[in-house]
Amino acid sequence: MSNTPEQIIKALRLTDDAIVDGQGAFRRAPSCRIVTDTRSLQAGDVFLALRGERFNGHDFLEIAHERGAIAAIVDTPAEADIAQLIVADTRLALGLLARHHRLGWKGRLAAITGNSGKTTVRALCEAILSRSAPTHATRGNLNNDIGVPLTLLQLDDRCRQAVIEAGANHTGEIAWTASLACPDVVLINNVTDAHIGEFGSAGHIAQAKAELLTGLSPEGVAVLNRNDRFYPVWSSLASRHEILDFGVDVPARVQALDMVSDEGFYHFTLTIDGAALGQVALPLMGRHNVMNALGAAAVAHAMGCEPVHILAGLNGAEGVARRMVMVEGIRNTTLIDDSYNANPGAMRASLDTLVQRPGPRWCFLGAMGELGDYSARAHEALGQYAHDLDIDRVITIGEPARAISTAAGARGRHFEDWNAMIDFARHALPSDASVLIKGSLSAGMDRLVNALRSES
Ligand code: ATP
Ligand code: MG
Repeated sequence: MSNTPEQIIKALRLTDDAIVDGQGAFRRAPSCRIVTDTRSLQAGDVFLALRGERFNGHDFLEIAHERGAIAAIVDTPAEADIAQLIVADTRLALGLLARHHRLGWKGRLAAITGNSGKTTVRALCEAILSRSAPTHATRGNLNNDIGVPLTLLQLDDRCRQAVIEAGANHTGEIAWTASLACPDVVLINNVTDAHIGEFGSAGHIAQAKAELLTGLSPEGVAVLNRNDRFYPVWSSLASRHEILDFGVDVPARVQALDMVSDEGFYHFTLTIDGAALGQVALPLMGRHNVMNALGAAAVAHAMGCEPVHILAGLNGAEGVARRMVMVEGIRNTTLIDDSYNANPGAMRASLDTLVQRPGPRWCFLGAMGELGDYSARAHEALGQYAHDLDIDRVITIGEPARAISTAAGARGRHFEDWNAMIDFARHALPSDASVLIKGSLSAGMDRLVNALRSES
């Protein structure tokens, strides 16, 4: 017979009751962590067995036992020397346990979604919010239907605020994670056509992102990007909530005024509801990062953060690795390492930044993944975009990136072989060039960054 999540909660003593510890002080149960990967198990944890494409957690029950797990949550009992709590679906149980834990946690929680900039905005929010109080935030990229519950299970009473990312590869995923996270503040950052092959159209992506609003508490705040083409859709879906919109060159509650670019790094006056909070000199490159900064400022404001912390957090922000990070390259070139990921909107944002940099401007681009039937069209359109921006050289590697350099015309050049491209780059890169290096994670463009570093 299978246990309901309520029975599991009871069995694991995941209650809100106060209990007395050895020193006579009150603290809250529970006392055990729920872990899905035996490599991070510690004695006293509960192991929850998930089934993935390449692994089945149910095969690891003995290892979990050896590592000191006190029990396992499974969908099928197995021969193993460990107490097993049986549920119909372990993925569902993980979510419901996380929801229970989140509802027992007394802090305020902001959830961030969008095609691009989730991790950057999360890092900016963390930089701001942690100036006012301890803040829990998504670690790494734990933002899917497994990552969100695991993040929620990490909430503890040392933190009174949390900022989490919610991503999606398919329709319904964010509706599920939203129902677990029960956010007080929701940010929908943008649609830049990531995973469009899976969703079928930009409109479907926008709907999937809007699912995050379904988890918002009635008095919760929707933070929306006024510059995004889907703003009207999101604002009408959020009409029962307070809306805090942000934008550049449009009327919005959170704005960047008097924006000036210094070789791609922006200075601006941050305003909220018409009041100037002060000056921001954003340490992150690119206009798209101004949008991310406004989104983060709006989230922090909705979370009740003081203006002084918002300004200090943005002015002291640090970039996230492999997102528009400047690296010294050979022959005094500046490499812009943006190799973490790419989609059509993110590629355009990076090229827009490259043209603001000094010296000859080169880009090395790898393929954008997960575009399905849109792939050829999207790569070709990007090449045309680079051509129209007058980028000096547009070098590509691997299919289907060839369509980018082909559309870029005489400035384009394509390679199928990594060594040939690296040799070419080492010999042909002009001194003092600004060099953007970008592609989807699967394109592995960090290899070129490493090959062109000044010390290599
Ligand atoms: P992923 O879904 O891959 O985890 P993410 O949404 O967490 O991505 P980031 O990791 O913050 O996004 O940024 C990834 C890339 O997206 C950056 O390198 C940059 O090229 C692009 N990007 C970030 N913010 C924006 C934005 N506001 N508009 C357009 N592109 C952006
Ligand atoms: Mg991310």
